Amino acid sequence: MWIYLNNKFVKENDALISVFDHGFLYGDGVYETIRSYGNRIFMRDQHIARLFRSADAIGLTIPIPVKKWPDLLHELMVRNHVGNAQQDAYLRITISRGVGDIGLDPSLCPSPTVVIMAKPLIAPVASTYEKGVALIIASTRRNLPSALSPQIKATNFLNNILAKREAIAAGVFDGLLLNWKHHLTECTVSNLFFVTGRCLRTPAVECGLLDGITRSIVIQLAAELEIPVEEGHFTPTQLYQADECFLTNTSMEIMPVTSVDHRPIGEGKPGTLTLKLRQLFGGVRERFLEPASPH
Ligand code: PLP
Repeated sequence: MWIYLNNKFVKENDALISVFDHGFLYGDGVYETIRSYGNRIFMRDQHIARLFRSADAIGLTIPIPVKKWPDLLHELMVRNHVGNAQQDAYLRITISRGVGDIGLDPSLCPSPTVVIMAKPLIAPVASTYEKGVALIIASTRRNLPSALSPQIKATNFLNNILAKREAIAAGVFDGLLLNWKHHLTECTVSNLFFVTGRCLRTPAVECGLLDGITRSIVIQLAAELEIPVEEGHFTPTQLYQADECFLTNTSMEIMPVTSVDHRPIGEGKPGTLTLKLRQLFGGVRERFLEPASPH
């Protein structure tokens, strides 16, 4: 695999970073994960904009201007033979504070480390969507937004990794994190939606969760279907009593959830509205694809 590392395309075995990189020492950095459909990148400009917002929030200057990113991503996909008619691409951009002496002061690091990877997208298999997935409510709480804003896609992901460990130990797909008030937030790498009657509900951003790009599309699609959407502060009991539930993120799109804490949600199978939104999402995603770069 070719990796873009600090101004160069290098083979993965040569893509090496110093042990003094503050991304490694302190988790001081930001990242984005993006996908393509064929050679067209899904919500490319929104992902790049979020990368710049995350970097800005931690006072990190990205050394590549916004307008160069589309060509760079495209060139990496071409070099790795992904992002084409045969193979959708999974892109991971990581920007760390860079190499510097030990110490928290960011000024110890004169230049950020930029890494971009492009590999084949591994989407969940069809039977996972057909059956839906199981969640547990993790005992690990989501970071307090005033301690670390969930809007910053930071390379320090320990909060979510601890919740993921709980899910793995419980033998389920993922862990759902509550906030400091015992309200629902999100899963470790996805946003949560559930259906109560005719209403589509999702935890409000101020509960302490990433304002996901797929989440905003689902809210837009629901509005187009004239389905009422409530962004609010919800309890685990409201989720246990829901008729349907699903998760959203860039690589999974819309994933049905059929149990939470070993209790079936609704009839314990993917719900009608979930399937309708999933189908609609597939039909309209063309609208959200950026044209291929002219390489
Ligand atoms: N929440 C968290 C914590 C995430 O890491 C992600 C995606 O990486 C999401 C939600 C979903 O975001 P998006 O739809 O922008 O991929």
